[in-house]
Amino acid sequence: MNDVWDLVVVGGGPAGAAAALRAAQLRPDGRILLLDKADFPRDKACGDGIAAHGRDELALLGLPGLLDDYRPTSRLTVVAPGGTRVSATAARPNHVVPRMVFDARLVEAARARGVEVRRHRVRALAESGPHVVIDGCLTARAVVAADGANSAVRRLIGLPASPDRHTAIAVRGYSDVAVSDDVQLIAMQKEGWPAYAWSFPIGDGTANVGFGMLLPRLHATGLPGREVLHGRLARLLPDQPARDLRAHHLPLSSGRPKAGAGRVMLAGDAVSLINPLTGEGIYYALLSGRLAGEAAVQAADDPLPAYLRKLRAALGRHLRTTDVLARLAQSPGFIDAAIGTAAHREEMFDVLVDVGLGAGLVPLPIALAVGRRWLRDTFT
Ligand SMILES: Cc1cc2nc3c(=O)[nH]c(=O)nc-3n(C[C@H](O)[C@H](O)[C@H](O)COP(=O)(O)OP(=O)(O)OC[C@H]3O[C@@H](n4cnc5c(N)ncnc54)[C@H](O)[C@@H]3O)c2cc1C
Repeated sequence: MNDVWDLVVVGGGPAGAAAALRAAQLRPDGRILLLDKADFPRDKACGDGIAAHGRDELALLGLPGLLDDYRPTSRLTVVAPGGTRVSATAARPNHVVPRMVFDARLVEAARARGVEVRRHRVRALAESGPHVVIDGCLTARAVVAADGANSAVRRLIGLPASPDRHTAIAVRGYSDVAVSDDVQLIAMQKEGWPAYAWSFPIGDGTANVGFGMLLPRLHATGLPGREVLHGRLARLLPDQPARDLRAHHLPLSSGRPKAGAGRVMLAGDAVSLINPLTGEGIYYALLSGRLAGEAAVQAADDPLPAYLRKLRAALGRHLRTTDVLARLAQSPGFIDAAIGTAAHREEMFDVLVDVGLGAGLVPLPIALAVGRRWLRDTFT
């Protein structure tokens, strides 16, 4: 059956591109179709921060040099909700690459690997024996749904979105900064906690700046979302007036749904893989997309169980850790204690980075040190 695709990927962001790239890497003669409702390059509301962990994923996808023309930076400043400021050098550098550039490069790399890329908005999905039929005209052995936070495919297969209490909303813009500014700033806010503003210099005289908070906290203000988000960004970074403001939801992994049904595997934001402590999602999108692409090729008869196993092995313990930390972090005092500990112990800073941007866990001595400090600060 020549008109059957081995894999149809819905969504050409990092998750979808990674799925297509991995499947084509493992099966160069496979028939792989990547659909997106937009043409690339296209913008996406994002902080544009790509952690070292994301670059590891790019290397696994056979694209180790994809970001080499962007400036690496290891310098980070984190301001805790209570005001403690920690500046440190991360063990490995991060990059800041506008999504307009990053996503288009990934899609182009997939096309160069033999993936067919089409502009197409998916609206309907039906199981048909061993196949999935998309919009009545495309037949696939497996589908990767990587269509983002408001995933239509997730809705079509009957899985719920992250509940509001596990969803954040953030606005991002661009502002002018000195070309020499290479410090990534994360400034957490007690007001409306959990909430933070960021400034991520790109290296070309501009920085991605933004502000994000949990959706219920935004609703509790009773004000229009735009007024709150734009207003607080302007207030928190008064020296960096922002243009091209754009907001989007962030479905947090603490509210993740099941990662698929039948022959459909969900990846990236479609399965709520955003770190609830930091709002980082690109690494998890690349990782989950890669694993879904692998499962589609290696377990073509029944890809979903293979995908669930791979996802659990790669992220299970990390996600359980961030589930617990997200609950503890409802108290700003806990984050104050964690960042206060990092101010004195360099290895703690590296743990924060690995847990917040990668698949890291919290070693017991570090957990005990933070717990002791939290208790001390609470009762003195
Ligand atoms: C303001 C903000 C700041 C952020 N900052 C960072 C950061 O600095 N670093 C970080 O790691 N993460 C950040 N994130 C999270 C990050 O943006 C996401 O986790 C990441 O984009 C997820 O990638 P994805 O491929 O799953 O989805 P997306 O990047 O959203 O891609 C989904 C794609 O699916 C397409 N699509 C949607 N519906 C359909 C349809 N029906 N048919 C066909 N195509 C469809 C869309 O056009 C889109 O191209 C931020 C998020 C926000 C909102």
